[in-house]
Parts: sequence; C-alpha cells; structure tokens
Amino acid sequence: MAGIQMNNIVKKYGDGFPAVNDVSIDIADGEFVILVGPSGCGKSTLLRMIVGLEDITSGDMMIGDKRVNDLAPRDRNLAMVFQNYALYPHLSVYENIAFPLRLAGASDSEVDQKVRDASKTLELDEHLERKPGNLSGGQRQRVAMGRAIVRDADAFLFDEPLSNLDAKLRGQMRTEIARLQKKLGITTVYVTHDQTEAMTLGDRVAVLKRGVLQQLATPRELYENPGNLFVAGFIGSPPMNFLPAEVDGTSVKLPFGTVQIPAEKAEKAAGKGLLIAGIRPEAFEDAALVDASKVADGSTFRAKVEVVEWLGNETYAYLPFEAPPEVQKQLAQLEKDLDGDSLRTQLVITLDGASRVSEGDEAEIWVDTSKLHLFDPASGENLT
Ligand code: ATP
Repeated sequence: MAGIQMNNIVKKYGDGFPAVNDVSIDIADGEFVILVGPSGCGKSTLLRMIVGLEDITSGDMMIGDKRVNDLAPRDRNLAMVFQNYALYPHLSVYENIAFPLRLAGASDSEVDQKVRDASKTLELDEHLERKPGNLSGGQRQRVAMGRAIVRDADAFLFDEPLSNLDAKLRGQMRTEIARLQKKLGITTVYVTHDQTEAMTLGDRVAVLKRGVLQQLATPRELYENPGNLFVAGFIGSPPMNFLPAEVDGTSVKLPFGTVQIPAEKAEKAAGKGLLIAGIRPEAFEDAALVDASKVADGSTFRAKVEVVEWLGNETYAYLPFEAPPEVQKQLAQLEKDLDGDSLRTQLVITLDGASRVSEGDEAEIWVDTSKLHLFDPASGENLT
C-alpha cells in the first residue's frame, strides 16, 4: 500500500483552458479521499492522471515515494473500478475475479486461494459460477471490486461507481464500499458528483471547480466552515441560503430585518460594504419554540411566510426576499457554477415539526447567528 501525492498538477487538452489547474493533494496511506464537483470540473481527468490513462502536462504525481508521471498504467500497481464495471460477460464470476491474476501468470493454486478469499470478503462465494449477466447491479459492483482486491494493489480508484444504480441500491453499495475500505485499509480515491457520497464516504473531500481545488477538508469541516461561496453552495441539502447583508458594528442588516452577530465575526467583516450572508436552513427556528433568553439576544426577525411544508418531525418554510442587482448577479453566477436551476430569491428554513407557523403568517423567526457566514461578493471568500 502507499499514499498518493499530487504536486501542482496541471492538465491541458490542446491549448484550451486547463481541465486541471495547479492541484496539490496529499493522500495518506490508507486514507479515503473523494474528488467531487459539478460536471466538467476535472475530477475524472485528475483520477485518470493518477492511474496513468492521461498524460500530465506539468507537476509531479507520486505514489509512495516513486514519481509515476512517465510510468505506464500497468506498472503503477493501482486498481481502478469503473462506472460500467468492465466485466467480461462470457466469463464466470470466478474467472472475472481471477482475470488479473491469470494475466500476471499466477499459479492455479494461488489464483484459487486469492479468488476464494476475496469472494468471501465480498460475500460472493455463492455466486462464483454465475455469469455477470445473471447478477444484480450491486453484485456486479462487488465482482469489479473483487478483481481490484486480488491484485494487492497499492490503491483503489473509483470513477462514479454507483451512478448506474437505483437510489436504494446506491445507498446499500455506499455503505458496502465504506465498510470494505475500512476493512482493507487501502488508500482510495473516489470520484463522484454526488455530495451525499462525498459526505458519507470520505475521510477527506476535495471540492473542485473548473479545474481548481476549492477546499480539501473533512466532511464536517466543509459543512461547518466552507472556505468560499462555491463550497458553501455545493455542500448541503437543502442548500445554504445566501442573502444580501450589511454589517454595522455587530448588527447585520438582512432583507428581513437586523440581527446581532458575535463580535469576532463582526470584526472580520468590518468595513467591507455589501456582503453575502450564508445561513443553513437548520440554523433558523420558530422563535416561539426557542428559549426566551436566546430570543432576547436580538437575533430574531419578523417575516411573511409564503409556503409551509409540514413533514412531521420538521417543517420547511419558504420566505421570498429581494436582493439588490449586484448580489443577484453574484448569485446567478454561483448557480451557473453549481449547475443549479434556482435563483435563490427565497429563504428556505427548517423549523421543528412542533412549529405552528402557517402560510401567510408574519412569523417571528430566530436565527443562530453563531452559524452565520459572511462572504466577500467579489472573491467569494468566507470572511468569517
Ligand atoms: P463529469 O462529471 O461530467 O464526468 P468531470 O468533472 O469528471 O466531469 P472531466 O471529464 O475531467 O470532468 O473534464 C474536465 C474538462 O476537460 C471538461 O471541460 C472536459 O470537456 C475537458 N475534457 C475532458 N476530456 C477531454 C479530452 N479528451 N479532450 C479535450 N477536452 C477534454
């Protein structure tokens, strides 16, 4: 096994815009790292450069302590699991798993030992004589992983392995991959555009936009401390709300009213003019359900609730607002970057299911301002 180190990796196809632009990521031995981002952000290209299917324009790709830029894919000792599994339909499960061993000239007894060990780990031992066509999507996925396991590869590389499966199976396989990776302790790089996979599978997640690494952090860090507007908007569902905000001392004027924010946040945003506040839906609550001392600290506002969706344990409420043109422009660009389709001109908040707020109410809403972020509208940087 080995770690993977990417140092200032650049990929240009022809003389166009770089598909991967100066990316440095250091993956520890045994670590599970996710590459995530919207379509075209360069995540597959980066993975293909690790495995050797794509030339590296500049930078160093290290596996263990070896520079592999000029090494052929078969000499890198990595195991790639593709979206379409790339199984041989005419071969049995046994022979599919055995394939890389046979190619390497392993003896029959070695092949048998390794295939049986891997199939036990993957719970495929009862299906060894079947053909891939007679397996479920999840079983096929496991055969593809079996083929990777028997090779004693230094690392596993996955390129959107679950995107062909239905939602239920995708959830099951996600758990399965997480379990197997922990059990095998093998360095893993996993490409997805699905933020749920990114948040649940990875030790760390690398968020990419247009070839540039935006943030590399644990899922919790990404969620709680997104480095910029793009990461903040990409991670979380329903997504973070973005509102125009003017900071004056510890007061922040939002479209719905003025709230008080902690002094250390206010200091970082002082004198910056019109900003974009980012607040996750769950940072809001019906003020009637919040402890009176919290309401007294000035972090409530009154606003008209347009739509309410009661889901039993929680309630979604929608509150429309207007943003000045300069903020609208930034939010429209952000939506484009995120491949999104809403203009975010409404606040989406999740209240406790016990809330009695209903459609048309002028409701009093409390916001946990310790969870309010302030972004620079020009650079997108999170100032707080
Ligand atoms: P997706 O989720 O849609 O697969 P991705 O994030 O994996 O997207 P890449 O496939 O790595 O993105 O592509 C990154 C950029 O490089 C895109 O703009 C793409 O059009 C471009 N690109 C990819 N492969 C080639 C190629 N062989 N020739 C020219 N441009 C390419």
